[in-house]
Amino acid sequence: HHHRTAFEAANKGFVGGKVPLGIKRKGLRVVVTGGAGFVGSHLVDRLIARGDSVIVVDNFFTGRKENVMHHFGNPNFELIRHDVVEPLLLEVDQIYHLACPASPVHYKFNPIKTIISLYYFFCRGVHKTNVVGTLNMLGLAKRVGARFLLTSTSEVYGDPLQHPQVETYWGNVNPIGVRSCYDEGKRTAETLTMDYHRGAQVEVVRIARIFNTYGPRMCIDDGRVVSNFVAQALRKEPLTVYGDGNQTRSFQYVSDLVEGLMRLMEGEHIGPFNLGNPGEFTMVELAKVVQETIDPDAKIEFRPNTEDDPHKRKPDITRAKELLGWEPKIPLRQGLPLMVSDFRKRIFGDHSDANP
Ligand code: NAD
Ligand code: UDP
Ligand code: UDP
Repeated sequence: HHHRTAFEAANKGFVGGKVPLGIKRKGLRVVVTGGAGFVGSHLVDRLIARGDSVIVVDNFFTGRKENVMHHFGNPNFELIRHDVVEPLLLEVDQIYHLACPASPVHYKFNPIKTIISLYYFFCRGVHKTNVVGTLNMLGLAKRVGARFLLTSTSEVYGDPLQHPQVETYWGNVNPIGVRSCYDEGKRTAETLTMDYHRGAQVEVVRIARIFNTYGPRMCIDDGRVVSNFVAQALRKEPLTVYGDGNQTRSFQYVSDLVEGLMRLMEGEHIGPFNLGNPGEFTMVELAKVVQETIDPDAKIEFRPNTEDDPHKRKPDITRAKELLGWEPKIPLRQGLPLMVSDFRKRIFGDHSDANP
């Protein structure tokens, strides 16, 4: 009997190829673009653990081989060094499209002369990856009939005028600012995803809008606030708070996010879905949590803020709760220590316990 996709073949008996979570079924062939990055590598761990065959596609722009090295030698794991801006031929059932140069330090620095070409180079990379890369992965999904999940971002809401942010909010984005390559790149990626879906070219698409996420394997020096504060506290440097520190963010632990992404992929709803932890903190409050967790004597230093910095951000996750049965479980004070031990090892080496 002929099945249109390997996904259907693997899951015959389930109407529309839907597989209830927790039901044992044949392993799927899954691509994770950006799978050598922070979020991607945690997702890969979960997919491998449930018996899927996983292909990681990554150009190592911000990702690292070390994040997935523990799967080398596993016949269910494959790592391809490839830039998604170039076409790619694979036969797969599901595509988790995470690839995106995601570290803010590169697009947030002031474009003064010495770094302007680097700035241009980086933003061009973000655009090409979000536009051409997403187009290619949609083309791949269309050709093989795979499910496609886009990891978009809370940045599509820009500097939001609605608080907390609901998925129906269209956002407040500066199209010509220093962060625009990222915000607008992701907005375009969402548009492309919905266009391929509406054109009936990719039947099953999913969109996640991810809010600030932290955890082990985060880039140490990528300039995000949690990684900065933790690394600074461990290195006995002052914690750098930008602006007055009253701006807010809501921080999600990475395992909660991965659970949400998998539920979204396996579920029946396109989205977009906000995936984030509604626990909201000012940057000064975050600095205090880091002090409590690592070093009560850590100093706080105020620095000028970057342009177009969103004043507040907090997800409304009603939709994900209702339709995916998902909500985050790990509050900041519980998740932060798990990240700190990983950072300690990476900053000081494996004998850090004897030499804090
Ligand atoms: P990350 O930088 O650790 O991972 C991104 C990965 O994509 C890296 O391994 C990088 O090498 C790879 N990549 C970049 N451009 C590529 C290209 N052209 N071809 C192939 N691979 C490429 O970042 P992350 O935090 O793990 O983010 C994963 C996804 O989640 C991204 O799409 C990001 O926009 C989204 N997201 C993350 C957060 C967060 O707080 N971590 C928040 C919102 C959205
Ligand atoms: N593509 C790809 N892998 C595939 C199928 C397509 O990388 O297995 C790329 C293809 O090179 C194209 C893009 O995806 O640039 C969009 O493909 P689509 O078939 O939708 O459009 P077209 O090829 O007609 O432009
Ligand atoms: N921030 C800070 N100190 C730092 C790095 C960032 O106070 O060392 C602030 C930044 O200005 C922003 C917030 O922390 O208001 C979150 O920044 P991040 O780059 O982590 O995420 P995003 O702005 O993309 O939400």
